[in-house]
Amino acid sequence: MSMTNFECMNTAELLDFDRKHLWHPYTSTINPLPVYPVKSAKGVEITLEDGRVLIDGMSSWWAAIHGYNHPELNRALETQLKSMSHIMFGGFTHRPAVDLASLLLPLLPQGIDQLFYADSGSVAVEVALKMALQYHQSRGEERRIRFATIRSGYHGDTWHAMSVCDPVTGMHGIFGSSLPVQYFLPQPTSRFDSAWNQKDTEPLEHLLEVHGGEIAALILEPIVQGAGGMYFYHPQYLVEAIKLAHQAGVLVIFDEIATGFGRTGKFFAAEHARVVPDIMCIGKALTAGYMTLSATCTHKVIADQICAGEAGCFMHGPTFMGNPLACAVATASLQLLLKSSWEERIHTIEEQLKRELAPARNLATVADVRVLGSIGVVEMKTPVDMARLQKIFVEKGIWVRPFGKLCYLMPPYIIQPNQLSRLTHGLLCAIR
Ligand SMILES: *Cc1c(COP(=O)(O)O)cnc(C)c1O
Repeated sequence: MSMTNFECMNTAELLDFDRKHLWHPYTSTINPLPVYPVKSAKGVEITLEDGRVLIDGMSSWWAAIHGYNHPELNRALETQLKSMSHIMFGGFTHRPAVDLASLLLPLLPQGIDQLFYADSGSVAVEVALKMALQYHQSRGEERRIRFATIRSGYHGDTWHAMSVCDPVTGMHGIFGSSLPVQYFLPQPTSRFDSAWNQKDTEPLEHLLEVHGGEIAALILEPIVQGAGGMYFYHPQYLVEAIKLAHQAGVLVIFDEIATGFGRTGKFFAAEHARVVPDIMCIGKALTAGYMTLSATCTHKVIADQICAGEAGCFMHGPTFMGNPLACAVATASLQLLLKSSWEERIHTIEEQLKRELAPARNLATVADVRVLGSIGVVEMKTPVDMARLQKIFVEKGIWVRPFGKLCYLMPPYIIQPNQLSRLTHGLLCAIR
């Protein structure tokens, strides 16, 4: 690779360099999908290098709930930067870490009062799975080393997180036997807003009867399955699953990395079912899309049981644990969210998405339209041509990134009705 004077690169050179040297999420180096160079972003508007402005329909993958370049979030970061950007968490603590936890813990389901800061969503899932293993080990239940989950889930790209992603659309096909083998249950057939079918938990009941003693935990994305298929299932599934798991001595992990912080209409999706998991992962919108930060939270009795074991502690400690900058911006984001009328806002977005996406049901190419909170999904009958569709979206001045058969919107909560209409109309026109 030759050295390039990056300050002199024009947009074409920048794109050329990117194409030659940079990997993007799930893309080929042989035939990379096109990328659009972004100059800046503010509110719900993304400005490209060529001056075009796009309305954001993705919140940068569930994260940027307050939009981009928010003055209060910027200020929180600037203020923190002047005292320290990072300090090791081993042997030290600091106000940003304590402030965030003291604000966050009372918002979590009742009884969750112990928090572990991690770097990203996938790591938070690894941490949760490790917690479950150490918990059972310290109780002398060394046989409990496997995990159960439902199909079409997504829990991240790291090793054990991958092993509980959907076995077909996930990474099992590629990594095959090198991945730990887990138990996969059918996706609940009862949808969020339809009748509850008691048969949905029969496979879990059966699994626990036969293999309950080998299972450390059941891991679920509560209510909304995100990257595995944007599917919304019935809250009663969670009620029944927790009951069954606990009867079998199995812990329940909720992965709220995508669903947390209001996205589904409740502060956490677990509230739809009024249930409390044993361990819970949060990330994505935690820092409003500013920094990478996640957390794995549990009950003190579980934490203490883990630490009563042979190791005498929980065996994890990332370099950037409790990063002060990330904690400071997360605290500012939470404060902003709590003082906003977020519930009303999400409800307004939900109503508008329902109204404006409904006409898609009449298209021959559309299989399903579903909306929950500020998530609007149009499922096509066949996989979409992502590059082609994305180009049309950009030409229409909107930012939507489809995958598989799914075109979906999850805009920042601050989006105005006219901006949301541009997203829904643009989406409908493009798939037409
Ligand atoms: C995005 C996501 C993850 C992984 O988070 P990263 O920050 O990308 O590692 C895990 N679980 C769910 C439900 C997610 O949506």
